Amino acid sequence: MKSFILIAWNLAISLVISLPLFSMASMPIERQSKHLSIGKIDVKPQQIIPFTFEQKISGLALVTKNINSWDSTYLIVHDDTLRLTRDEHDPNNNASNFIVFDRPIQNLVLSVGKLTGEITLILTHIDSTPNPVKLSSERRKSNCALPPIILQENWRNGLPAPQYTRSFSTVNHIIVHHSAGSNQASNYQDVVRNIYIYHTEGRGWSDIGYNYLIAPDGSIFAGRDPEEGLQDEVKGAHFCGKNSNTMGICLLGTFTDISPTPAAITALEQLISWKTTKDHLQPYEEFPHEGLALGVIAGHRDGCSTQCPGNQLYNKINTLKTTVYNQQLACQQDPEEPKEPVNDLLFFPNPVKNGTIFVSNTVEDVLLINAFGNKLFVPTIETKEHLELQVDHLVAGWYVLYIQDTSGINQYKVIII
Ligand SMILES: [Zn+2]
Repeated sequence: MKSFILIAWNLAISLVISLPLFSMASMPIERQSKHLSIGKIDVKPQQIIPFTFEQKISGLALVTKNINSWDSTYLIVHDDTLRLTRDEHDPNNNASNFIVFDRPIQNLVLSVGKLTGEITLILTHIDSTPNPVKLSSERRKSNCALPPIILQENWRNGLPAPQYTRSFSTVNHIIVHHSAGSNQASNYQDVVRNIYIYHTEGRGWSDIGYNYLIAPDGSIFAGRDPEEGLQDEVKGAHFCGKNSNTMGICLLGTFTDISPTPAAITALEQLISWKTTKDHLQPYEEFPHEGLALGVIAGHRDGCSTQCPGNQLYNKINTLKTTVYNQQLACQQDPEEPKEPVNDLLFFPNPVKNGTIFVSNTVEDVLLINAFGNKLFVPTIETKEHLELQVDHLVAGWYVLYIQDTSGINQYKVIII
């Protein structure tokens, strides 16, 4: 059967060669390293070009000489059609996104679309990892503990380590990205390995640009290698040339039209809750950043003109801030050392959406003050289960709720929206 397919393929190629719009590529491939090759070819618009590679390829990106439209450029691999789009992370603005195939392939068809002139194919050759590292998603000790991370020494096994001088900076901003790669890949460790080789050897960058990468199954990969330094403070290359004081997190996939998986979002929430708690960052805050008023949690597009991280992921950032805020609150009551369970339903919801704060009726007293420290009049209804604080007359913003119970008086930040 295999040989039949091969014959059929060769026959198909010999047939298409005779048609003017189709041509079999005769492309010298220059081997750059064990893991990367580069080929150049002249193309005309609308050409459809079948390729057979001598050595299997695991990933591919195109670089054009001219700024072209990528509107109708795509690859056909087996039965899949893979769109090529502009790489929003390419400073020269002339590369396609980098496609990692589900497994290494020998044949593909390129539909050139509107590209014209010389194009460069950057090809990676990474063998599939038979047993990718999986980390157990055991419950973290607290809402703000570091989630499990797959380290470079695991995912980079067998690939050369990056050689460059690292810079470090304290983080004021966490920047969310998407990789703009395929949503179909299933071996995420292979995707990260391919991205690493493409960035370092294909584009000549020092290392992966992001501090962390998150896969659709919720696996978190350590990205840029900090050597002896801290993973969350190594200065990356991901944010519009303004990388100081930022930490980059990239979700693998393209989230223009489809949403990230719940597992990826949960991993993102956990990673940001850990980082913001560690650095005493408030998720709703903004700081000046190179002429911008930039949120503590922001999308790539908040820094410069790009679609990244895609509408479907960008639209989740506000909810993400609320979740992180709630996780910070929860871990104030739930420090890393396990202790007696606390009444985590002391009050809810937070943020307050419908004008009522429900407080456990086991508390002895409550007091609400505004940002200026003024005590506020709050009508209270007592039911069997709760005290209901009526706050619908208050404007949206920050408040502090004091709750007195048997443990003493505790204060909580409350957001009314
Ligand atoms: Zn980005």
